[in-house]
Amino acid sequence: MKFFVVCVALLALVTIVTVGCGEKSSWQEKADIFLAKYQQEVAGIELKLADSYWKAANSGKEEDFNAYAASDLEMKTLHSDSARYAEIKDILTHGEELSPMSLRALVVAELAFKENQLPADILGKMAKAAAGIEQKFNNYRGKIDGKAYSDNELSEMLKSENNSGKRQKIWEALKQVGREVAPKLIELAGIRNEAAKKLGYKNYWDMQIRLQEHDPGEILSIFGKLEKVTDEPYKNMKTGLDGELAERFGIKAEEMMPWHYDNPFFQEPPPSARVDIDEFYQGLTKEDVVELGKTFFADIGLPAGDLLERSDLYEREGKQQHAFSIDMNRKGDARILVNIKPNVSWMDTLLHELGHAVYSKFNNPEVPYNLRDSAHAFTTEGVAQLFGALSKNPVWISTYTNADKNRVKELAEAILEQRRREQLIFARWSMVMLYFEKAFYEDPSRDLNALWWEIVSRYQMLTPPKDRNAADWAAKIHFTIAPVYYHNYMLGELFSAQMRASLVKLANHQGPAHTLNFKEHKEFGDFFKQKIFAPGMTKAWPEFVKDATGEPLTPDYFANELK
Ligand SMILES: [Zn+2]
Repeated sequence: MKFFVVCVALLALVTIVTVGCGEKSSWQEKADIFLAKYQQEVAGIELKLADSYWKAANSGKEEDFNAYAASDLEMKTLHSDSARYAEIKDILTHGEELSPMSLRALVVAELAFKENQLPADILGKMAKAAAGIEQKFNNYRGKIDGKAYSDNELSEMLKSENNSGKRQKIWEALKQVGREVAPKLIELAGIRNEAAKKLGYKNYWDMQIRLQEHDPGEILSIFGKLEKVTDEPYKNMKTGLDGELAERFGIKAEEMMPWHYDNPFFQEPPPSARVDIDEFYQGLTKEDVVELGKTFFADIGLPAGDLLERSDLYEREGKQQHAFSIDMNRKGDARILVNIKPNVSWMDTLLHELGHAVYSKFNNPEVPYNLRDSAHAFTTEGVAQLFGALSKNPVWISTYTNADKNRVKELAEAILEQRRREQLIFARWSMVMLYFEKAFYEDPSRDLNALWWEIVSRYQMLTPPKDRNAADWAAKIHFTIAPVYYHNYMLGELFSAQMRASLVKLANHQGPAHTLNFKEHKEFGDFFKQKIFAPGMTKAWPEFVKDATGEPLTPDYFANELK
């Protein structure tokens, strides 16, 4: 495989020289000429994109954001060229005459072109409609007895309120935005569906899934299995949780309603009553947290010191408040932007973003440029989630932080139970998102309010509020700003668990994955570099996962961790 990559790269160089010599091109030569020019142009624009985004996120200045928007438009314009798109399709009709690597590079390029082939007026209409809804979300304030509150205020109130009636009012206030947004979102779904049909897809869900290189049947099959394997564990977990919460609210467990969970969508568990993991991080400085991340990645043979030196680590005026990792050039210059504080949430985020960054850093320079990226959005997410989750792992906390080992041991069971709740609750919630959105685009005119509660009661096993006919679904902003994407977070979790199982095997470790100590396992770095990072996008993800872990993507390892 490696030889082959080098071979293609050389061919590309040769063809640049021979263009215009009047020789009759074979389809391989046509592919080489097309790809050489395409890769060079994309690389050039991406350099500007990365540079301007990095500057903008750090400065918050309008001129930097404008430079970023200009490069973004340049990239979209390149991929909207219908003549070049037709050329790719033409070459691909002779796919069997191409080297596998050229074929793969063209298939990936084709997807990038395809999503940009919509007429400008439809793109404009979609963007405008989505922006209008997003603005509604930004400006809307839920009301209780006539008084308006921000979402943050309402969420805080929900956390501390013990009276069920008051909790219901707060929860309802958090859903009010749905009523405002729903008609506009249904209208947007219509426009999105119209666009999808123009490109030959059944509907917008079908289009997005396929543009992400997913086979809808395969995704549904994985989620179907996931439902089966989480059914019992989820039911049991929820019975325990409901018991605890019912006691807190002085009600019977069967009286538990959706407003009794702190998260308005029940996408994460309420804080554990038995443990606050922050106690293990509070004795550290923010610099200690960073040093810890550096030590850990060096320990497993994925040194990240150079990345951290180029990164922007602490809070500052004007700087973006969230976190991301960015690949500046696909030549090893990756960096992260974070706002580290000594708590578990930022420890998690640091390990998560460094996971993305080492994925970028240790790519294979011999892989063609447009394939030199993570195999799929969910595979880099899975790597990041694997590392991030260590911040809540008792063995890791004991090994890497200065926490009292006996104290960690004492709380280990409670820590693991909370983690298990997180995994189960998120899995069931991701099913709600997947199945609702699929049905939504299949028929936006159906009774969506009723559909939402049917799906919520089936997958999350929540009791629908009696006689409620409200657009609670529309209160989830992801349907507007990140449509048909949620399944990738869950696939990332499944891939994480599958990789953890590979590491357990590699280390010859006996016992469950959460008892595996990463310390001094330099060979883990080799596993990631060779099996996970180096292939890039050279294979479609199902084949990649199978080659990397020895098995197709399966929910089994995720389910094993929940036993
Ligand atoms: Zn991430």
